[in-house]
Amino acid sequence: MFLENPISGTKKRGWIEVVSGSMFSGKTEELIRRMKRAKIAQQRVEIFKPKIDKRYSEMRVVSHDANSIHSTPVAKSIDILALSENIEVVGIDEAQFFDNQLVDVCNELANKGVRVIVAGLDMDFQGKPFGSMPALFAIAEYVTKVHAICMRCGNLAHHSHRLSADDNLVVVGEKEIYEPLCRDCYHEAINESEKEESLTTLR
Ligand code: ZN
Repeated sequence: MFLENPISGTKKRGWIEVVSGSMFSGKTEELIRRMKRAKIAQQRVEIFKPKIDKRYSEMRVVSHDANSIHSTPVAKSIDILALSENIEVVGIDEAQFFDNQLVDVCNELANKGVRVIVAGLDMDFQGKPFGSMPALFAIAEYVTKVHAICMRCGNLAHHSHRLSADDNLVVVGEKEIYEPLCRDCYHEAINESEKEESLTTLR
């Protein structure tokens, strides 16, 4: 497969890959896997993530199975350009939390010959496309959707169902706050909580 053999010819070619899915779908693990392989191939790699994600440690991209790799937190997507001079493979984690300029930043890097691998949530907890992810899907050469397992029925999960009542979109996920659900179970869960809500207002 092309993505597994990314070095071809003498001309430096850039492109964009997107790895996306719900919470616990393994998208960060897949990003790390690709970055580690690039490193083994003697390429200069760097992972960036938004400063907003304070889970675990500042300087490492940490996936849920504790398979981690060094990363650089940045405040704005434009900062990635200045920090990735001489980098051959740029990884971007939690891309849904970056500002909208990330789309231009990824294009600029790829146009310069950089391989860009972007990982992020495709949908927020309401099932709506998240941040710049839809635009990144559109401009990427390669899009990979990864799936968690539905916590209720065991099918492939498509949604991140939020179990807490906080309305802030920037609640970064933990098992206690989100559960991955398939399309059917997600809509069942939404209906259940709507019923509960109408019951409490009736009381
Ligand atoms: Zn299900």
